[in-house]
Amino acid sequence: MGSQGILATPVTITAQSTFPQSPISRCLRRHHATYCGHMHVVSRAGPPFIGFSRTLSSKVLAYRQHQRVATSSSHHSRSSDAQRGPDIASNACLPTWGGTHSIRGRPVPNWWYARVGLKYPPLSLQSGASPGDQEAVLIDGKSIAGQVREEIRADVAAMQVKFGVVPGLAVVLVGSRADSATYVRSKKKACAEAGIISYGTELPEDVSEEELLNVVAGYNADPRVHGILVQLPLPKHIDEERILEAISMEKDVDGFHPRNIGELVMRNREPTFVPCTPKGCIELLDRSNVVISGKRAAVLGRSNIVGIPAAALLQNRDATVTVLHSRTTTEVAKAVLAEADIVVAGAGIPEFVKGEWLKPGCVVIDVGINSVPDESKKRGYRLVGDVDFDGARKVASKITPVPGGVGPMTIAMLLKNTLDSATRSVNQVGDRNV
Ligand code: NAD
Repeated sequence: MGSQGILATPVTITAQSTFPQSPISRCLRRHHATYCGHMHVVSRAGPPFIGFSRTLSSKVLAYRQHQRVATSSSHHSRSSDAQRGPDIASNACLPTWGGTHSIRGRPVPNWWYARVGLKYPPLSLQSGASPGDQEAVLIDGKSIAGQVREEIRADVAAMQVKFGVVPGLAVVLVGSRADSATYVRSKKKACAEAGIISYGTELPEDVSEEELLNVVAGYNADPRVHGILVQLPLPKHIDEERILEAISMEKDVDGFHPRNIGELVMRNREPTFVPCTPKGCIELLDRSNVVISGKRAAVLGRSNIVGIPAAALLQNRDATVTVLHSRTTTEVAKAVLAEADIVVAGAGIPEFVKGEWLKPGCVVIDVGINSVPDESKKRGYRLVGDVDFDGARKVASKITPVPGGVGPMTIAMLLKNTLDSATRSVNQVGDRNV
């Protein structure tokens, strides 16, 4: 099929591309295509598409093959997205990404995405959906975390070559909780894979607060250690806040130090570290090309490690944020969620948020990890999020699964915070040597 034929009919194309100055729009105009309204691209007669525009036409073709061709009037959620400007629908015309993401048998190079104004390659589009009943695109946390960890691995290797410094993370485990031991093991394994050295101290359940403080002080003073993590929860006889406050601000890679949280919520202040789980939520949104600025966001939960920092991060990115909590009535929650473009759910209640409560086209980041009994599983339970995934998937435009969504990002962000800390310490040494 000739490339002009591809564009001969109205085609739904990215909201981003409908902006007159966007690279796609410029390219379309150069090749005699016109854009009208927000969503339609209609070609005029013109020369065959070549080079970049050939790539573009292939993308439109690939897009149409995904049955996402529609007029704005027949496509409720996309058209409302378009009216709001470039946002969560902005990757709609792009083909699938991943192992099979290619144009004419060749992989799409990363520079192409920068050229069309995307910071990151788009996520896979789901095929087989028709307008009106299409399912949300999965935000694949496992795959995105894999990309992040690969980037970190490369940066760690480069730091070692350039400065002879290897980032170090100290992990302190108190007691014998099986879940805590598992988390610590997986954090150490992730460090090893990224080339980060992990140091560990395991203390008995009845360790005194003073002994634990001594261990933290030792790591604070150790120049090989760039990050310190005390695995929570701690035994009841230990004052958790006192321990967290004892961790040096420069090594608080969990971001739980009161000063870090304080600086996160204050205007015009920059925290040294941001807590890993909410930081991972924002990274998922960014790498899925979800625009945050100007959007309405709802955060379920107000804990220090998820809800409060997630709300602060979204607000710092110019979203209008509403925090829902244990005293929020279901009626209020429904009213807020019906208006929210972005939902971050961290209430710890299995499948609490129903699909019909959500705004069509919204983006859902499900932080919750809850186990519910399931006799069909060998282990007798399965993990679910705070959002009814099957219901939400029919309404949202993008959604994280549980497991495989936010969880993998938490560890990736811990590695990132450790690398950033090492980078800061290398820069400080450099500054002193100037
Ligand atoms: P938490 O128990 O400390 O806090 C739960 C919060 O939910 C509280 O602030 C509470 O006010 C709020 N809440 C209770 N009922 C609510 C309701 N009906 N509507 C709205 N909010 C309500 O829990 P947490 O540590 O913040 O964790 C929350 C969830 O996130 C849990 O399921 C946890 O397992 C999960 N989690 C996941 C990761 C990850 O890496 N994916 C990391 C941390 C926590």
